[in-house]
Amino acid sequence: MKYLDEYRDAKVAQVLIQKIKSTAKRPWVIMEICGGQTHTILKYGIEELLPTNITLVHGPGCPVCVTPLEMIDKAIAIASLKDVIFTSYGDMLRVPGSKSDLLNVKANGGDVRMVYSPLDALKIAETNPENKVVFFSVGFETTAPPNAMAVVEAQRRKLNNFSILCAHVLVPPAIEALLSSKASRIQAFLAAGHVCTVMGYSEYLPISKKYNTPIVVTGFEPVDILQGILMAVQQLEESRCEVENQYSRSVRLEGNPIAKKLLAETFDIVDRKWRGIGTIPQSGYRLKEKYSSFDAEKIFNVEYITKEESPLCIAGEVLQGLKKPTECSAFGTLCKPESPLGAPMVSTEGACAAYFHYHK
Ligand code: SF4
Repeated sequence: MKYLDEYRDAKVAQVLIQKIKSTAKRPWVIMEICGGQTHTILKYGIEELLPTNITLVHGPGCPVCVTPLEMIDKAIAIASLKDVIFTSYGDMLRVPGSKSDLLNVKANGGDVRMVYSPLDALKIAETNPENKVVFFSVGFETTAPPNAMAVVEAQRRKLNNFSILCAHVLVPPAIEALLSSKASRIQAFLAAGHVCTVMGYSEYLPISKKYNTPIVVTGFEPVDILQGILMAVQQLEESRCEVENQYSRSVRLEGNPIAKKLLAETFDIVDRKWRGIGTIPQSGYRLKEKYSSFDAEKIFNVEYITKEESPLCIAGEVLQGLKKPTECSAFGTLCKPESPLGAPMVSTEGACAAYFHYHK
């Protein structure tokens, strides 16, 4: 398949591995920011193929994993209401809140439905005018444009029974927060190709410069990842700190101007809490005041709900690249995909789930 097979070609991968081996003279720590990239790295055993002086650490780029506990509790509170139809992508249904999860709400009689797109939720709102239909709007800059479009479309169609519970987060402020941490050991980043397809990569230029850190915009197939690692290692060995674009078949410096305009017209950028990490300034989206009648947090008055994380789960350290999932005492024992203690074990993109499935 075009744009797929050639990026899974074992011979090309071998050539890249040899180049990484001959280029890397010193030890380097590189973080892949995106959970999709982590999944590829674990699935294809890329860590085992790299020279031992290259350490990959796995970043907080799994939207399911970083959605804070209190947002899950807010979703559960809304979904438990009698006249509500709560819609969400499948991954969010199993994420544990402080006491329950959305699947449990469904088992107890709540109307919780899995959808594949916010437009499915709009259709449900149209055909169920007597119910309030809420869509759980999570994800990075990649999923935000269709969700923004759903709100604009709901307003156009005068669907006053539709709203979104908005938990969107943004990648560049997270990278900056990781780099500014005193505990950080990250020397280069692989940025997420799909996020940059929407947003471009000009936002990364000042971050790379300020923290003297190479950032390589990278795709998601094994050859993409290996090429991204090679580009990062070349920069590190040559003492260069630039933003480079490995994923040029999809990413332009300026991103997608139509999607960016829609986002700017629909959302304000606000401080946002990340699960396991805490509040990162200016790292999330919230609906603009003109769309407040579509903001489920305001409609259902759940803004007051706050919750602290369980001390057992070290997801915060895992998501900051400070520890590997296998260093968690609950990994594979108290915490498994079928009985997750923390969000990174729930999502297929979560680092803990990827280690559980692929790391032998
Ligand atoms: S293995 Fe489970 S408990 Fe440990 S960090 Fe991962 S999600 Fe949290």
